[in-house]
Amino acid sequence: MKKYIVANWKMHPDSWAEAEGILDAVSQYLESVPEKDNSLVVCPPFVFLEEVGKLLNTTSLGGRVELGAQDIALTESTALTGEISGAMLQKLGVRHVIVGHSERRWKLGESDIVVNQKIETALEHELTPIVCVGEKERDDHYKEFLASQLDATFGGLSADQVSKCLIAYEPVWAISTNPNTRPDNPESTLESVRIIKDFIIGKWKLENGNSLKVLYGGSVTSKNANDFLSLDELAGVLVGGASVDKEQFVEILKQI
Ligand code: PEP
Repeated sequence: MKKYIVANWKMHPDSWAEAEGILDAVSQYLESVPEKDNSLVVCPPFVFLEEVGKLLNTTSLGGRVELGAQDIALTESTALTGEISGAMLQKLGVRHVIVGHSERRWKLGESDIVVNQKIETALEHELTPIVCVGEKERDDHYKEFLASQLDATFGGLSADQVSKCLIAYEPVWAISTNPNTRPDNPESTLESVRIIKDFIIGKWKLENGNSLKVLYGGSVTSKNANDFLSLDELAGVLVGGASVDKEQFVEILKQI
């Protein structure tokens, strides 16, 4: 199965020189290995999006790395100060967009309704939404929480729209910057992946449910990446902190 590695750089690195350094390390590694049918997506902060796009167009990284954004404006037609529209992203060569990241949901108050609308806007611009879902706490009710979050996040979308999304299961407690963080373990990740797939396939009656792609994110490092990447039911990983550490990121890439 084709695997995805999605790098979410968040608000890093501090300078373009460092960003170039990460991409240079990725490029050197990719040039040293045969091309495989995997997808590597880099989602830099908006300020570096255009420059990363140019690098992808003009170097050997093109064709091996795809450009992703970390967010998208709710709609095209309204004046929305500070936001970046789907059309703007498209013009920069962006192919994927992270939607509903837990930091936006929980720290910035982004609701399921907003996430739902952003998925539609992304799809209208032929961008693949990487839709983040995941429980805040691992308590007795987390499975119900997950099902209701999926219901609200994807509610009203068609089966065709839902099947065009990548879903990133990111339990909030497992994100590396959160207090007392710990990565999920592969067995429990698989359980959540099955809940997600069963819910989506059942509710939208997806004919080709096996093609639904679910990634895992939360404290993935070079040490544990293979535990997740080797799971057949998981389509890949979304990597935050470790994706801006060039040595570590290249070690993760070696695992697919
Ligand atoms: C993220 O925030 O999307 C993420 C996966 O972060 P980290 O890998 O640092 O836990």
